[in-house]
Amino acid sequence: MKYDVVIVGGGVSGLSCALTLASMKGHFNWAENKRFLVIDNQSSDLLKAMLNNVPGIQKGTLGRKALDDLREQAKSYGNVDIIFGRVVKVSGNKGDFTVITEDGKEFKADYVVLATGFHNFDIDCEGVEIIENKKSPRPGKIQIKVDEESRAKDGLYVAGLLAGVSTMYACAAGSGTQVACNIMAGYAGKNVVVHDVPSES
Ligand SMILES: Cc1cc2nc3c(=O)[nH]c(=O)nc-3n(C[C@H](O)[C@H](O)[C@H](O)COP(=O)(O)OP(=O)(O)OC[C@H]3O[C@@H](n4cnc5c(N)ncnc54)[C@H](O)[C@@H]3O)c2cc1C
Repeated sequence: MKYDVVIVGGGVSGLSCALTLASMKGHFNWAENKRFLVIDNQSSDLLKAMLNNVPGIQKGTLGRKALDDLREQAKSYGNVDIIFGRVVKVSGNKGDFTVITEDGKEFKADYVVLATGFHNFDIDCEGVEIIENKKSPRPGKIQIKVDEESRAKDGLYVAGLLAGVSTMYACAAGSGTQVACNIMAGYAGKNVVVHDVPSES
């Protein structure tokens, strides 16, 4: 199956990226038929967290609930699929990526976003350079070397802790959102954002 963007990792950064991409629908003609896929193997750090200090999220919210809510919010636009599974290989180039899961499913995509956190990176993926994570308070964590657009190479983006942002929910969410904006700029040929306003009563 062919998607416009496949996001590998459905933690807060991957889901925030999917949410912003999904929200293009209804705002730009070129966005109408775009489809997005998130593939997640359900080991987000948020599953262990209770959130007291995340902007806009009620104090005491379980990380697990925040993830459930974010998945539903992204899916509400009707253009995001979310599946559970482990990605083992990403190959190809911008416009023609192939993403393969452990159980042999294969997906095509124009763009791929890697958002798999900072613990390890064992996906067979040409063009990524793994370096020591510069923002982790604990040693032994990794990130992928990215350019100023958060790309490992053309068409291959990196978001969240894997891109080297600080290990806070809002930082990871912002990183995923920024990657979505970078991809949207590629579609539009200029910088664009999605801002909604209340409808007139
Ligand atoms: C115990 C604990 C408490 C925390 N409390 C707070 C807090 O109070 N406030 C705060 O701001 N932050 C908190 N954090 C930090 C917060 O959880 C992280 O900053 C955030 O989860 C990072 O998001 P991410 O998307 O980069 O990575 P993650 O949320 O870890 O998501 C990565 C996702 O990628 C998936 N994945 C990995 N490899 C593959 C693969 N090969 N194929 C498919 N999917 C894959 C994983 O299953 C996971 O779902 C806490 C973290 C921990 C561990």
